[in-house]
Formats: sequence, C-alpha cells, structure tokens
Amino acid sequence: MTKSLNVAVIGAGTSGLLTARELLREDHRVTVFEKSDRLGGTWVYNSGVEANDNILCLDPNRPVVHSSLYSSLRTNLPRPLMGFSDFSLEDKTYGDPRMFPGHKEVLKFLEDFANEFGVTKVIRFNSEVVRVENIDSKFVVEWRTLEAGSKEEVFDAVVVCNGHHTEPRVADDIPGIEEWSRVQEHSHNYRVPEPYRDQVVVVIGNGPSALDISREIATVSKEVHLSSRSSNVKISSLDGYNNMWQHSKINRVFEDGTIVFQDNQSIKADAILHCTGYKFHFPFLRTNGMVQVDNNRVGPLYKHMFPPQLAPRLSFVGLTYQQGILFRLYELQSKLVSLVLSKKILLPSEDEMLADISQHYREMEENGIPKHHTHSLRLQFEYVDWLAAKVGLPIEDRLKEICRSLFQHWIARPNGFREAFES
Ligand code: FAD
Repeated sequence: MTKSLNVAVIGAGTSGLLTARELLREDHRVTVFEKSDRLGGTWVYNSGVEANDNILCLDPNRPVVHSSLYSSLRTNLPRPLMGFSDFSLEDKTYGDPRMFPGHKEVLKFLEDFANEFGVTKVIRFNSEVVRVENIDSKFVVEWRTLEAGSKEEVFDAVVVCNGHHTEPRVADDIPGIEEWSRVQEHSHNYRVPEPYRDQVVVVIGNGPSALDISREIATVSKEVHLSSRSSNVKISSLDGYNNMWQHSKINRVFEDGTIVFQDNQSIKADAILHCTGYKFHFPFLRTNGMVQVDNNRVGPLYKHMFPPQLAPRLSFVGLTYQQGILFRLYELQSKLVSLVLSKKILLPSEDEMLADISQHYREMEENGIPKHHTHSLRLQFEYVDWLAAKVGLPIEDRLKEICRSLFQHWIARPNGFREAFES
C-alpha cells in the first residue's frame, strides 16, 4: 500500500485542479490554496486593471490582478484541444457552442470539472500563499487570508501551479523608451478597445493576443501599426483593414511620439501596447537557490517539473507552453506528479536528473534556441509523448493532426486562422 501524503497545491487554475484530482485519485490528502474567491485562474475574467500610474506593472509590490483576459477573448485552440482525456469539451456546451468558444465557456467547463471530481471541496479560497520553505524534508506553507491574517502548516509535498500569465514582460530595450511620455500599456491590462478610440496605436508582438487585440483596436482607432521582431515580416497593410499595417521591429522612439521602425518608416503614435508575453514568478518560494528563475528559465528542473535536489516533494505543473494541447499536457504532468508521490513511478537519481537537464540545455544551445524559450515546446510532441508513455495515457493521433492543421492555418492566415480552420 502506498503512503498517503499531505500535499499542498498552490493555485486553482487548470493545472491546480488537474493536480488535485490526480492526487485525490491516489488517496493523498490535498489542500489547494487559491488566493482569489473563484477557481479557474486565467479563465476568471476580471474587468479591473492594475493601477493607472503603473500600467506596465513593473512594481513587484503592486496589487496584482491575476487574469490577463480581455473581454472579447475566444480560445485560440479549438474545442477538441481544450478538454481532458476523460472530460471533454467536444461533447458538451455551456451556452457558447462555437469551435473556438469565448472565455466564459472555458470557465464553466473548469467549474464543472472541479465539481465532478470532488476538487472544489478541497480548495481553500481567499488564501494567498506567501511562503513555501523546505525544512527537514517537509515544507512549511504560510498563507494569508484577509480575515485571519497569516497562518502556517507543514506539508509532505508541495505542487506549484500558480500560472505564468500575470507578470508582464515588456519590450524595455527599445532605444528612447525611457523618454516616451505617451501611453504605454501591456496586454495584461488590456480589456476593451474603447480607450484607443481615434488614436494611433503601435502594438508590439506577433502572438495570438497581439493579432486579436490589434484587430479589435482597429475597429475604433485611427491607425494600428503592428511591430514584430520576426525577421520574415513584410511591411504591408493588413488584409481587410484600411487602418492597419505590419512593420518590422522598432528602431527608436522619441519623446514627441515619433516611432521609427527598422524599415525606416516612421509614424507619430499616441500609444504603445506591449503584447510581449509574461515572466515566471514565484515570490513565495524559499529554496536557498535550489530553484531559480534566470532569463525566464526556471531551473534546474527535470522534465520542466522536478528540481533534482527537492524532488519529488517539490514539483511544478503548468510551466511548459506549446502551440497545441495545453490542457492535456498539464493533465499528463499532474498524473506524473501524483504517481511519483505514490512511488508508483520512480524518478532517476539526482545526478541522472541533473545530467538530463544539462543535456536539454546543451541541445537548446546547439539549435540556437534562446534561454528564455526553455519551457516552450513549440509544435513538438516528443515531450508530450514521453509523459504519455510514462503515465500510460497516450495522446490520440487525431489531436496531433488537429494541432498541425491549426498551425498551418495560423501560418497561412494569422489574422483569420479560426475562420480558416472552421471552414
Ligand atoms: P492559471 O490559470 O494562471 O492559474 C493559477 C492560479 O494560481 C490562479 O487561480 C491564481 O489566483 C493562483 N495563485 C497564484 N499565486 C498564488 C498564491 N501565491 N497563492 C494562492 N494562489 C495563487 N490556453 C489554452 O489551452 N487555450 C487558449 O485558447 C488559451 N488562451 C489564452 C489566452 C490568454 C490571453 C492567456 C493569458 C492564456 C491563454 N491560455 C490558453 C493559456 C492558459 O493560461 C492555460 O491554458 C491555463 O489556463 C493555465 O493554467 P494554470 O493553472 O497553469 O495557471
């Protein structure tokens, strides 16, 4: 018989809910700490934004709004890729049956999932974890509630599922940006296009959020200029829009609002919107340097999950991102954590895990992949397949095909990939 452990899960988003379910299935005692009053994490839309005088959210002590969703957001993955192995979003709807539903549909799906598998009742809401410290092969978890202040409790293991779409990464290396006196915002704080009415806006980035948001802003603004670091960007006006242009990287900005792109074109803008992604952030972790974040690499972590010196008692679920099957990937990670904690799967030795990590870093270097992409899996399935084989839950070929097809539509028509995929 496996020993039942007392496990703390930090965060009740997709990763935390999945992890709690798998731990419960293995008869562990589970407490999910959730700082907000709702489960769902990213998928809990919050119309509030962070304070106006700190719109780039660079102050670590600011009051944080967790979710970065904008009001009109639809999933960028179709329904078959947004479900779990035994709880699918394909065969149910919560009022928005579209192939790429709006964010409310995903939240209802997650709530349904948590109720179905008895996870909701193990969540401690309004409980923000402020310290996780390794003491004598246990972990002290300190958390704070508004009513009761700080408390602490000792756990056998901790799984970190706090999400990584809250701490903005901004393009702060643009020459002249420190003199820029006009509006600057990060997509973390973008909710609706109205503040950009009649303005000339430069949107930095080329991910799904940059494209969705710029298209939406174009409906009210005077002009939208998309700027991308990608070297293969063609300077062009964008299909179907008479007020939207694609540019190369910004060369320099000036105090009077002038922005010069590397293609030597220049415009006068009212606002810069950074759709430039997010940073990993674990303000509560005290590991004496055993886990560090360096240029958005969380490490050392075996298979993006286990710090060799503290594994398996400390683990991470949900760090990896992929152009594809995120929910299923997190499901596999959460299964692996729970099976390892039950000793049904054994991790390699500390030295072997460290060697595996070094090998991963070496391969990244050889392939010219920058450090900040350490946890990005792009459209590769090796890692997912490795996890699937470990826990005995293969990913159907059909889903991989959907991923590939979606990606082709995205490359061919980034501004209308949903419509192209559906047709
Ligand atoms: P989160 O959902 O961020 O949940 C983390 C939870 O931890 C939150 O509830 C938070 O309150 C809690 N928490 C944080 N710190 C603490 C603390 N100290 N104490 C207690 N609780 C804490 N994925 C897709 O699959 N399809 C999509 O279409 C898609 N679109 C996206 C669009 C946007 C704009 C963004 C930002 C992300 C999108 N994603 C999408 C990615 C999405 O974030 C993940 O799929 C997934 O929801 C992440 O879940 P998570 O549990 O890891 O993190």
